Amino acid sequence: MTGMVQRRQTRQIHIGGVAVGGDAPVSVQSMTITKTADVDGTLAQVYALHGAGADIVRITCNDVEAAQALAEIVPRSPVPIIADIHFQYRLALAALEAGVAGLRLNPGNIRKEDHIKTVAQAAAGAGVPIRVGVNAGSLDKDILADYGGPVPEALVASALKEIRYLEDVGFGDIKISVKHSHVPSMVDAYRLLADAVDYPLHLGVTEAGPPPAGLIKSVAGIAALLLEGIGDTIRFSLTADPVEEAKAGRQLLEFLGLRERRGLDLIACPSCGRAEVDVIRIAAEARDVLEAENLPIQVAVMGCVVNGPGEAREADLGIAAGRGRGHLFIKGRVVRVVPEAEMVQALLDEARLLARDGIEARLAAADETAAVEAHETAIELRTAQGDANRAAERRAAVAEVARPE
Ligand code: SF4
Repeated sequence: MTGMVQRRQTRQIHIGGVAVGGDAPVSVQSMTITKTADVDGTLAQVYALHGAGADIVRITCNDVEAAQALAEIVPRSPVPIIADIHFQYRLALAALEAGVAGLRLNPGNIRKEDHIKTVAQAAAGAGVPIRVGVNAGSLDKDILADYGGPVPEALVASALKEIRYLEDVGFGDIKISVKHSHVPSMVDAYRLLADAVDYPLHLGVTEAGPPPAGLIKSVAGIAALLLEGIGDTIRFSLTADPVEEAKAGRQLLEFLGLRERRGLDLIACPSCGRAEVDVIRIAAEARDVLEAENLPIQVAVMGCVVNGPGEAREADLGIAAGRGRGHLFIKGRVVRVVPEAEMVQALLDEARLLARDGIEARLAAADETAAVEAHETAIELRTAQGDANRAAERRAAVAEVARPE
């Protein structure tokens, strides 16, 4: 089928019950920002991230209290938990003891070969995968010196060095990330890595910053790779409520056709001089009420009935304004006309009915007069706007200029 992404073949690993790599769907990860020692606060955030679309959640394990808290969090979590480990390899052992489903090690700050091998052996014993999580901002000093900076080749070299240590002790339950805050470098690093290994890859643009720039950077890097078939699990690293990053990750996968739509896809026209209503306000109101319903439908908000139903004919449901009325349409066919003030409520009511009864049944229940009224309104508007555009006068002026001397 056209438009389908051909995914690169990778080995499959399992983070708890979530398969990563191989033919598994691309998964969404996020990370808590609470103090891990705060068990209830952290769990509440894990639940919120799960609700927003995260399949896997990472939690920092930065001291003994955090490791102890993980022992309470893991059995109560709705999703597999990965412990994020920096500097102290013993905390990786403690996190395994706490029952985590995955470890993330940063090769830039856990550098001793015997420490890494000790962790790998313990992880193998527990059946827990390790992410080799290379980050341009905390690259192994020797590698940084060899390459003269955090270039893509340096990130890949750091990952390969760590993987060799793991493979030396027979450990292959690996996924890898080579994150960079510079989007083209991030993309290059993952491309190089994809050529070098068949382990599953975790994609991310590190320290992307607050939205909207952080979102744009993340989407640019992650989507470019996913469309090439590279990437098995993703994380947006936003300076924002992590619920936003989970939501964004999930939406990106849905928009790329890599995950089934489970929530609302709201499309709206950008508005133009023809708009008969405040499209921006109506679209925002529609988004708010429809998102709360969590229905897997595509809904269009269009500024005018002249072009709206046609332009948005692929949407399951939509509304277009004209002459103080809202024209509700399903798959491009106008099925009901409502007063303009009731546009959002009408969308909500119809969305619920569509989810319950299906498209065919709702088309069969259409008000036959609605399409006629919409058609007449569209003609009226087109005529009026044609006049407003002084079409005849301007055509005459153009002909005047073009007339031979
Ligand atoms: S649907 Fe109508 S208002 Fe919206 S951009 Fe198209 S022509 Fe303009």
